[in-house]
Amino acid sequence: MKKFKPKKRLEAKEYIEGVLKGDRVILSRAITVVESNLTSDKVLAKDIIQAILPHAGNSIRIGITGVPGVGKSTFIEAFGKVLIELGHTVAILSIDPSSQRSKGSILGDKTRMEELSNNPKAYIRPSASGETLGGVANKTGETMLLCEASGYDVILIETVGVGQSETAVHGMTDFFLLLMLSGAGDELQGIKKGIMEMADMLVINKADGDNIRQSELAKRQYTNALHIFPKSASGWEPVVSTASAIKNIGIAEVWQRIEAFKALVDENGYFQKNRKEQQIEWMYTNIHEELKQLFYGSQEIKDELKLLEAAIVNSKISPVKAAEKMIDTFKRSL
Ligand code: GDP
Repeated sequence: MKKFKPKKRLEAKEYIEGVLKGDRVILSRAITVVESNLTSDKVLAKDIIQAILPHAGNSIRIGITGVPGVGKSTFIEAFGKVLIELGHTVAILSIDPSSQRSKGSILGDKTRMEELSNNPKAYIRPSASGETLGGVANKTGETMLLCEASGYDVILIETVGVGQSETAVHGMTDFFLLLMLSGAGDELQGIKKGIMEMADMLVINKADGDNIRQSELAKRQYTNALHIFPKSASGWEPVVSTASAIKNIGIAEVWQRIEAFKALVDENGYFQKNRKEQQIEWMYTNIHEELKQLFYGSQEIKDELKLLEAAIVNSKISPVKAAEKMIDTFKRSL
C-alpha cells in the first residue's frame, strides 16, 4: 500500500472555530480528520465532534436512494436549487458502496451536480471509501454533524439503492426518499421490498415526454402497493409522486411533502423520539463493530477457529460446542 503523508493538522480549537463560523475550507479539513484512520486523527476527531455536538442537529436529514441511472444527481441538482431559492443551505453527502471494494465508483466518475457544486449555499462531499459499512456510517454520521454545526439546515445523504447502505442511511436520517422509474419492474430496478418499506416518499422520476402516462400508472400502482405495508411509527403515510428532474417538474412538491412530514412529526413528538433512538442505536452499532474486530482480529482466535472448523467438518465437535469454546478462549484472552 502506498504510504501517504497527511497534511499538516491544525489545533482542535481551530477546527472547532472554523466549523462553527461556517468556513468551508476548515469544514472540509475537519471532515478529512473525521474520515482518517490514523490514531492521532481519531483523538483529534473525538475532540472536534465533542465540541461541535451542541451546535449540531438543527437540520432536516433526508436520505435519497435509487438505482444508478434513476436520476439521483439530476434530482439533487434540481432539488438543491429549489431549497436554496427558499433560503436554505444544503449539504450533500454521497455514499457509494461500490468504491468500498475499489471496483470503481458508481457515483463519482462523472461530474455530478455541476451547478450546485459551484453554489456557495451548497456543500457537496463524497463519503469515505475503502471502509466497512459500519465505518462509513460513522464517518458519514460525523460528517453530517460537522455540516450541521457549520450551519447547513438541509442534509441530503445520497446512496445507491442496491446495497446495504440504505439501512445505515435510514438509521441516520429523518426522511427517506426513494427514486424510481416507471415501466420497470421492482426486480429490474433492484429495489428490495425492505427498501420500499423504509421509504417515506416514492418519487417516480423521468415523468416527461412519452413517459408521462406510464409514470401516472406507476404512481397508482405504487400507491396501492404501499397500502399493504404496516403503518409507519411516525404516523406518516408514505406518498408517491411523479417528477421530472431534468425539466424541474414536481421537484418543489417533494419539498412541500417533506415540510408536511416535518410538521406532523414535530407535532406528534416522533421527530425528537426518533432522533434519540437513532443516537442510541448508533452507539450499539459501534459496540457490535468493535467487539467483532476485537474478536476476529485476534491471532489466537483466528488459529483456533481454523482448527475448530476442521473439527466441525469431521464431526468431532458440534457447532454450538465449538462456538462456546471460542467464546471461552476470547474471555480468557481479555
Ligand atoms: P444517477 O446515476 O441516479 O445519479 O442518475 P443521473 O442523474 O446521472 O441520470 C442518469 C441519466 O438520466 C442522465 O442521462 C440524465 O440526464 C437522465 N435523467 C435524469 N433525470 C431525468 C428526467 O427527469 N427525465 C429524463 N428524461 N431523463 C432524466
